[in-house]
Amino acid sequence: MTSEQQAVPGRLTIVSAPSGGGKTSLTRALLPRLAAHGLLARISVSYTTRAPRSGELEGEHYHFVEDARFVEMIARGEFLEHAEVFGRRYGTGRARTQALLDQGCDVILDIDWQGARQVRALLPDAQSVFILPPSLAELERRLRARSQDDDEVIARRMGDARREMSHYDEYDYLVVNDDFDAALEALVAVFLAPRLSRPAQERRHAALIAELLAN
Ligand code: 5GP
Repeated sequence: MTSEQQAVPGRLTIVSAPSGGGKTSLTRALLPRLAAHGLLARISVSYTTRAPRSGELEGEHYHFVEDARFVEMIARGEFLEHAEVFGRRYGTGRARTQALLDQGCDVILDIDWQGARQVRALLPDAQSVFILPPSLAELERRLRARSQDDDEVIARRMGDARREMSHYDEYDYLVVNDDFDAALEALVAVFLAPRLSRPAQERRHAALIAELLAN
């Protein structure tokens, strides 16, 4: 990070999608693309009471905690937002998120619509993106491709997905994930545009602007 970037606080971006929407692969691919533009971003690691899936690592995909610990964290006000999703608790740690933003790091919150509402109410400057699948048929194909779930489970997940998608209109940006690379480009644009606004650039490049306009 350059000292110029440190002067500008990071920005919070909420990314929501139904499961099967491709959100996780997109946000992970996004980080190196943003870094190439000099934009340091992190994906927030949430707390959850659900069990790790195979291949998921503590501290990398989630912080896996017991229900009692989660409830304690709520009582201590340690969450920026928290919600129950599919019968399990999920929450975003407040202190870590704030520390990253203060360091000038952009933070991506991969959270559901309930969490998104809470974050918007607390931090009106947060921007939000909803990722939509290109069709219901493709959503179902993706859900089937990534698990061996039976028809009943798939039908339930499709129902969950439709409920999540019904909140698309609460978001600032919509990205349709038809072609992965095109969707990734769209996400890069969402992150870069506010950084390129004149007020943001004036703050970041105050010294340069002063030099260019000096007599
Ligand atoms: P999964 O268990 O499949 O990783 O995630 C299930 C859902 O929980 C996803 O829609 C994901 O966006 C949401 N989620 C993950 N972490 C959080 C969080 O910290 N807060 C909220 N509100 N939702 C989360």
